[in-house]
Amino acid sequence: DSEPRKEDLKQIIEMMDGFKASKALFTASNMCVFDLLQRRPGLDAAQVAQEIKASVKGTKCLLEACVSLGLLTTCQKQVYKNSDLAKCFLLSDAPFSLQGYIQHCDKMVWPLFSHLDSAVRDGTNQREKAFGRKSKDMFQDTVYSNQEVKLRFMNAMHSIAKVTGKAVATAFDLSSFKTACDLGGCTGAMAYEFTKAHPQLSVTVFDLPAVVEMSEHFHPLHTDNRVSFVAGDFFKDELPRADLYILARILHDWPDENVHILLSKIADACTSGCGLLLSEIFLDEDRRGPSRGLLQALSMSEGKQRSATEYSLLLKSHGFTTAHRLTDNLLDAMLCIKETASLQSH
Ligand code: SAM
Repeated sequence: DSEPRKEDLKQIIEMMDGFKASKALFTASNMCVFDLLQRRPGLDAAQVAQEIKASVKGTKCLLEACVSLGLLTTCQKQVYKNSDLAKCFLLSDAPFSLQGYIQHCDKMVWPLFSHLDSAVRDGTNQREKAFGRKSKDMFQDTVYSNQEVKLRFMNAMHSIAKVTGKAVATAFDLSSFKTACDLGGCTGAMAYEFTKAHPQLSVTVFDLPAVVEMSEHFHPLHTDNRVSFVAGDFFKDELPRADLYILARILHDWPDENVHILLSKIADACTSGCGLLLSEIFLDEDRRGPSRGLLQALSMSEGKQRSATEYSLLLKSHGFTTAHRLTDNLLDAMLCIKETASLQSH
């Protein structure tokens, strides 16, 4: 047998080590290493250890691992500073901070993935095994039943929406819409991006009462009151009236039955010419990527990941025409327009 190619071996080993890199990043973030080195750049391992109340040996290993991952820089004197990557994404007060999402990955996604073999065997999510609680509705039974878990989840959604929101908000010309309703709009992060990008637009964020009651913790400092909040259940309650409905990272969480209930409620609320802006990861049509979407599907939520064509067919069955766009960002977008009754009958 010929020797394996060097790059093949490297690729497979890097994949095997991926979880170690993730956990090193999560741990350094949890221990506030990046915030500390931003306030006091140039500390050595012993000084960092003292500040984060950890062993010198462990801290040195963690800092060196972070250097190797491109999160920190160091020099001959063996003192440490944040890299540009860390400054952009890992400081708690950075505009594009992913800290909230990192905590969610560490505390929520990691435990689910540590039961991946059971998840694959059973084809079901492992929330009960991971968190010791039976749950029918992931949001109402697992995430929102505990205040700390709820805030962590909201922070996660907030941070990822801030990073992805602009690309979604600017993917299409929305100048003909005056009012929008962001269904499952969580902290309003996406809604604020929409109002920033579209000066004519007001957005109502519609989400469960448990979420809306915390929304003021996430208001940006400067707002012009074009974002408002309404509490309700999008499967049961009447939807606020709007020219444009937004569904960002909602449909992949639900089985077809719920998706149809929600889409028919939106279709009923839409008059001809109203829009629905859908934002999800669109799987490649041949389902070979992107691995971001296919790996997320392994969490075995009750829903599934779909391609643009699959979403398009779903939307068409509810009387929408669709145009989609790959945003070259973490989330893709599809603009769907409600057809007039006469067009629909053709
Ligand atoms: N749209 C946001 C974004 O893209 O960042 C948040 C997406 S998060 C995965 C799903 C959101 O749907 C959560 O904010 C959750 O509270 C909300 N949600 C779940 N079930 C709901 C329901 N029955 N009625 C209204 N909102 C719901």
